[in-house]
Amino acid sequence: MKSNIQKKNMKKNKKDTRPKKQISKFKYGLGKIILVILFTCIVALAIYLLLDWSLDLASKRNIINEKSINSLITAVKNNDYDKAVSLYEQLSDEDMNSLSESAQFRDDINNKFNDIFVSNEQNSTDKYKIVEYFSIFIYDSEVDKTINNLYITFKTTNMSYENYQNTINHISDLLKNGNFVNIINLYNEKAELIKISREQYNKAKSFENEQDYLNAYECYMSVIAEDIFYYSVAQEDAVKLKSAIKASILERARIYESENDIENAYYTIKSAPDIIINDPEIIEYNQYITDLYQKSTYVQYTGIVYNMFFHSLALYPEIAFSSLRGEELFNIMATKYEFQKCLEKLYEHGYILINTTDIYETYQKDGKEYLKIKEYLLLPEGKKPLIMSFDNLSCTHADVGFCKKLVIDENNNLASIVTVNGTDTMTYDGEHVLILYDFVKQHPDFSYNNAMAIIGMSGYESLFGYATADLNSPNRQQELDGAKKVADKLKEMGYVFANHSYFHYANSSDIPSRYSDLEWLKYDTELWKQYIEPVLGITNLYITPGGKNYSVSKYVDGDHADPCYNYLVSAGYQVILSVGRGQAYTNKIIGITNPTFYFGTSLFMDRYNIDGKSFYKEDVKLEDVFGFSYSEIIDPVRDTYKQSF
Ligand SMILES: [Zn+2]
Repeated sequence: MKSNIQKKNMKKNKKDTRPKKQISKFKYGLGKIILVILFTCIVALAIYLLLDWSLDLASKRNIINEKSINSLITAVKNNDYDKAVSLYEQLSDEDMNSLSESAQFRDDINNKFNDIFVSNEQNSTDKYKIVEYFSIFIYDSEVDKTINNLYITFKTTNMSYENYQNTINHISDLLKNGNFVNIINLYNEKAELIKISREQYNKAKSFENEQDYLNAYECYMSVIAEDIFYYSVAQEDAVKLKSAIKASILERARIYESENDIENAYYTIKSAPDIIINDPEIIEYNQYITDLYQKSTYVQYTGIVYNMFFHSLALYPEIAFSSLRGEELFNIMATKYEFQKCLEKLYEHGYILINTTDIYETYQKDGKEYLKIKEYLLLPEGKKPLIMSFDNLSCTHADVGFCKKLVIDENNNLASIVTVNGTDTMTYDGEHVLILYDFVKQHPDFSYNNAMAIIGMSGYESLFGYATADLNSPNRQQELDGAKKVADKLKEMGYVFANHSYFHYANSSDIPSRYSDLEWLKYDTELWKQYIEPVLGITNLYITPGGKNYSVSKYVDGDHADPCYNYLVSAGYQVILSVGRGQAYTNKIIGITNPTFYFGTSLFMDRYNIDGKSFYKEDVKLEDVFGFSYSEIIDPVRDTYKQSF
């Protein structure tokens, strides 16, 4: 359409426009085309020339590069410091890149660095200055190797820390242009430990000179294994020191002994420091002199072996006694206050803790092991023997103010976990085993030969707060491991364990009807041996559940017929403990002809219970047996709850 209109217009224009103007328009268009062509040619030529010139330039430049880098490398090789630096400073960024990619150059610098320290050329020659100036080209691995060699020399020889540090300072100074601070710091930290270790060694030497052997020993032992040279020296010195201490103590004790001064010989050996008390020679002499000392100063004791037991302690009796199980807990538990008071009273009244093994010797007859009750015990004058026991240390009443768990703390000490205001807190007095141990530490004469207490354990609940009772739990092994650590620790502290039955069924009515009493006892005992013995260890002690006495009175009448009691003895339980308050009757065994509950291969004993039930009983009063009254130990908090139960 548009072209038709244009054509029409053109026809009209033909008549009106002038021919002159049409010719000049034509000339102008041709010129423009020529100009465009010319311009294109010029541009093409310019591009060609520019390209050619720049290619030429690039290759020329490459030659300059190589020349300057080569001369720089040569200058470095010849240790021509000034030339190397001046050439280097003229390099463009690109040149520097090629230089750092030059393995030859870097190797040269690294070799020179190496030379300086290996061949000990540590002076400010041009070579030194070159390495210092070009240290950014040194490999990290080379720096690490060099310092590591120095560090190894330091720790394996008696090279002084000052010498080591001087060399390190020298290296730091030399490498200050490079980025090696991290590597240097890493070795500085290690060397610092060696330095401290060596200070300990020197301290040990001066303590030894001052005859302060214990501190000397401690310092020798704090020399670290990484301090290779001094570690072996310190270990040898410590061993020598130990034998010197041992020899001196044994010599002093033997001199006293030869002068018939047994007491001073005994106290000399008792003063032996911890570092030597496990030495076999010390142990042997200690036993020998203790025996002599006890024979010469201890007095013969005959009569009753006192026996007292506790359940777990109510740490927060208000919570325990006001809980749903308040009445039961009020009756069978003692509070922490009562336990502490009771210990004080027992101590005041001359009791001394002994182990059951202190009261008898064993002998074999007709393939059986028999107990021989001692004719007398040798105890410090005025002391009365006491066996203490704790039942059911399962830690299952944490929610009502009892200990939640026993644990080993970071210093390998026993600790208790106690929930205080909803927060689990680690304490050191959250159960009787901890309180008694501390009490004995403070009153060593409350314990004969470090005796503590018997811990009677059942199996159906947890052990010390570890969930070991669920035999199908996937975490059982982990829980058993935790319980085993606590058990081992308790044994190390002087505690011994007793079988307190697996299920704690005290009455025949508790037992499933398909079992006879004897069948159940066998089943229950086998369970304990299978699941609990591996954690606590073999024991010859049995604490009957709920104070069951297996008709032991039958024995008294000469009718040795109770099959349950016989079974327990045949299962290895030589001392069977129950509950009873007639200590003067049951436990009067030492030096007594035919004690009532001694049966040749076994001994049956009563234990006096300290708990809410016993406080309000009138049959055999605490005072009649132990010499102090309930009012001296009873927790005042009981008054509040006594009425409601
Ligand atoms: Zn019990």
